[in-house]
Amino acid sequence: MRPNIAIIGAGFGGLCMAIQLEKAGIRSYTIFEKGDNVGGTWRDNTYPGAGCDIPSHLYSFSFEKYSSWTRRFPEQPEILGYLERCADKYGVRPRLRLNTTVVAATFEESLGKWRVRTTAGDELFDVVVSAVGQLNRPQLPDIPGMSTFDGAAFHSARWDHSFDPTGRRVAVIGSGSSAAQLIPKVAEVADHLDVFQRTPNWVIPKADAVFGPGARTAFRRVPFLQRAYREWIYRYAEGTLYPALSGGWSSGPLRKRALEHLRDQVPDPLLRAKLTPDYPIGCKRVVADSKFYPALTRPNVDVVTDRITRIVPGGVQTAAGLREADAIVYATGFETSGFLASIQVIGRGDRHLAEEWKDGAEAYLGIAVPHFPNLFLLYGPNTNLGHSSIVFMIECQVRYIMGCLPQLAARGPMEVRPETMATWRQNLEAAMGRMVWQAGCTSWYKNAAGRVTNNWPGTTTAYRRITRAPRPDAFQFAR
Ligand code: NAP
Repeated sequence: MRPNIAIIGAGFGGLCMAIQLEKAGIRSYTIFEKGDNVGGTWRDNTYPGAGCDIPSHLYSFSFEKYSSWTRRFPEQPEILGYLERCADKYGVRPRLRLNTTVVAATFEESLGKWRVRTTAGDELFDVVVSAVGQLNRPQLPDIPGMSTFDGAAFHSARWDHSFDPTGRRVAVIGSGSSAAQLIPKVAEVADHLDVFQRTPNWVIPKADAVFGPGARTAFRRVPFLQRAYREWIYRYAEGTLYPALSGGWSSGPLRKRALEHLRDQVPDPLLRAKLTPDYPIGCKRVVADSKFYPALTRPNVDVVTDRITRIVPGGVQTAAGLREADAIVYATGFETSGFLASIQVIGRGDRHLAEEWKDGAEAYLGIAVPHFPNLFLLYGPNTNLGHSSIVFMIECQVRYIMGCLPQLAARGPMEVRPETMATWRQNLEAAMGRMVWQAGCTSWYKNAAGRVTNNWPGTTTAYRRITRAPRPDAFQFAR
């Protein structure tokens, strides 16, 4: 039996799943994509300066290495181009339904199938693979008076390209990774820029570099060189960044490097004090950027730390007074802990996923949820990283799901056992207790109750090991 598979989302995760199915000769799948193109977060985030702080040679599929990356750290258009080429090369487009939003998925027990409801109608599938990502639903703040603002106002992930910041007064609310990338670009042309910072972030330098024609030719002609370079980046992330960003041995040197970076780039002690975090490095996602601090020292930029009280037609009202603005950019992040919250998912016994997850999303290996047979998650709960490439994690998950397909084809719908889940939860909690994310900071790694629902506490090497192949005893089967 060839399972009929619904894939939700055509970003890195959905495309990886589809490509592996194609490679296995399984063409009985459909990718539902709410947007008008593939690319996921790299289609959505088009703000000036958008890019990735994971090196390009690791932030790409292991089976589709690309020798012609033009930079060490890729920018958004190049990543999107890479994903579009992957979709073309592996022939997934005929099975891609763009502009089609999945609104619900219900497991029909009598049929042993999922009924997937989209904006185009209902269809039955044997398997559902969710690849909706963790950073796909922009989070706007809840500041009084937002709707009264007179000028342009938009979220960083919904950049309004009809707005030209040249010569204008711009307010950027937020100072995370997105803000750090767009601020230097806006500051270059704006008349004035106010950066509203609620919490300072740890910032480390980003040693970006251009790969000239020589380097690109070398990567193309000597595949070993490219493999070795990718391996080197991977090992550095695992061996040095992982301990540093999880509170381990190398957090001291990394903290020192961040403070030196601040001292080198920000001469004014008052501004430096504003920008110095008071929580352990790694607790929130570290910003890797070498252009952010210099932009904040420009004469036309102010870092505002006064509490925002409301938005008024002419700008941003703070506890210390009005900051006038022609435009407000909300670089305020994403709704990260809800995972599939935009889709009503109903499993066996009329169990609603939202209800199951009311105290925090969780899944065995980040992939499978008890009572939800044949539902698999990519980049699900507790699989995010602060130190390395999510593409690596996605590949592990896709390989695991590919390993499940023959089992569910032979023995009917498969569902992770509650006792497997309980052991997983216990081990995860024990590992989480050792991580820095629970130290005194707020971050998108946690839900409102403070439970870390997003991050994987181990190395990626450990994750690859435990996801190498599904253990049949971890699951119960319909037959
Ligand atoms: P983010 O890291 O969640 O940052 C959101 C920012 O908005 C924070 O500074 C936050 O302050 C502030 N904020 C939120 N609500 C606010 C409010 N009501 N009033 C004032 N400030 C408010 O979001 P992001 O910058 O979009 O980045 C999200 C993630 O995407 C990153 O952590 C990273 O994983 C990924 N990303 C990566 C890159 C890259 O590779 N360089 C670039 C962009 C995004 P608090 O800290 O006080 O909450």
